[in-house]
Amino acid sequence: MAVERTFSIIKPDATARNLTGAVNALIEKAGLRIVAQKRIRMTREHAETFYAVHKARPFFGELVDFMISGPVVVQVLEGEGAVLRYRDVMGATDPSKAAEGTIRKVHARSIGENSVHGSDAPETAAIEIAQFFSGNEIVG
Ligand code: GDP
Repeated sequence: MAVERTFSIIKPDATARNLTGAVNALIEKAGLRIVAQKRIRMTREHAETFYAVHKARPFFGELVDFMISGPVVVQVLEGEGAVLRYRDVMGATDPSKAAEGTIRKVHARSIGENSVHGSDAPETAAIEIAQFFSGNEIVG
């Protein structure tokens, strides 16, 4: 399988509970390498753009408010089949349906406050990475 990159966000519910290291430990245990990482606050405009695909969904306003409610840690993860591998490590969107040992099963609070974001395809990953990182910030 090819080495690829995916984009990750450690969301405000996790940073608020000081879980950045705990999440990173699960990421690294799964064989993914954190090749870029920074702690930022998303602006409302950026959160709306980032989640534009969900604009028509009833939870859109709640999602944007949540994503700007505190700091997030944005990351680039690298490894074989990184996109699907990270989706596996994250677990299902709803933590009550997530598999044992996944980040969301272990740490998430609800379907909204679910601790992490991960890209759903390599094409999306490239777009999302470019929204937050310039090439020289990613060190593989
Ligand atoms: P993901 O790819 O597993 O993150 O899931 P989606 O792309 O379907 O949804 C994006 C994000 O929107 C999720 O990670 C949640 O934070 C949020 N979300 C999804 N469904 C709901 C919901 O029913 N209620 C709320 N409040 N947030 C939701």
